[in-house]
Amino acid sequence: MTTARLLDGTAVANQIRAELRPAVEAFTARTGRPPGLGIILVGENPASEIYVRGKLKSAGEAGLRADIERLPASASLPQLLDLVDRLNRSEVHDGILVQAPLPASMGEDAESRVFDAVSPEKDVDGFHPVNVGRLVQNRATLVACTPSGVIELLERSGITIAGARAVVIGRSNIVGKPMALLLLHRHATVTICHSRTVELAKRAAEADILVAALGRPAFVTPDFVKPGATVVDVGINRLSTRASVERLFAAGSKRLDDFDRRGSITIGDVHPSVAGVAGALSPVPGGVGPLTIAMLLKNTMTAAMARAGWAG
Ligand code: NAD
Repeated sequence: MTTARLLDGTAVANQIRAELRPAVEAFTARTGRPPGLGIILVGENPASEIYVRGKLKSAGEAGLRADIERLPASASLPQLLDLVDRLNRSEVHDGILVQAPLPASMGEDAESRVFDAVSPEKDVDGFHPVNVGRLVQNRATLVACTPSGVIELLERSGITIAGARAVVIGRSNIVGKPMALLLLHRHATVTICHSRTVELAKRAAEADILVAALGRPAFVTPDFVKPGATVVDVGINRLSTRASVERLFAAGSKRLDDFDRRGSITIGDVHPSVAGVAGALSPVPGGVGPLTIAMLLKNTMTAAMARAGWAG
């Protein structure tokens, strides 16, 4: 049984952060202030708290200014839009991030209304329709962090994208669609699969590069994978019962030990046995996750330079 080469997202993220440092220092020296990121967090979602803490810490370590603006879960949509407006007008904030999900009480279209309200120049998540439109036309400056992190991981790991047959499972605005566009712009032949795709495993098994972004734990099994293919696992799923972990990992394995210590583990959308078929595979954790944060810092730097009138 072959074992796939691991695509080390942590190492690539560290590389990107190291490359950013001189740019952050030069910006700070020249403008008298560091590039600034404003993060809006509404309510007390525990997963969001963890993500935001990670983003604040990484931004601080990179020499960026990062502020968190909190609103209670009871806040209204107009209050949130006011806060976005204040950050849009702030001189010291180059990037704005509104942590999803928003409380359900804000209404079904709250997320898109809030993302639309962020100034496109400060839209470091790349969710604003103007930035999405630019991405479609292959002239984007601010692109969604997770898919652009996947591209960095592939390119810096020496995976050839041009001419490759790429399959993306998932068609969300945040991951699947921008992922497919980024691969297309790098000259892959791209298929987007989703919950209504017929013969999903068969379509996936045509891929030289398979990106799994569907949010279903261990869904992508070896029959989805062409031998030797590169598999990128974007999924983040929490397993919190021992039985669910035992179904995937053998007794005595590190992941089962992790579960026994912590009471839960994070796994991706790709089944562990895919490592025996794929040529290269990004792990969860330690794959795409760290890159998402690195790309957020990079986007903040890009936004800061553009606001200062400097070329990227
Ligand atoms: P989403 O729920 O918005 O979209 C999921 C997509 O998968 C949908 O387009 C749907 O059509 C497709 N899908 C769902 N079930 C399917 C099935 N059975 N067969 C085929 N397709 C199916 O999710 P999202 O926001 O795109 O996130 C996807 C995953 O990536 C989640 O696990 C999420 O936690 C993770 N994620 C990770 C990062 C990171 O930093 N690593 C960032 C964002 C999202």
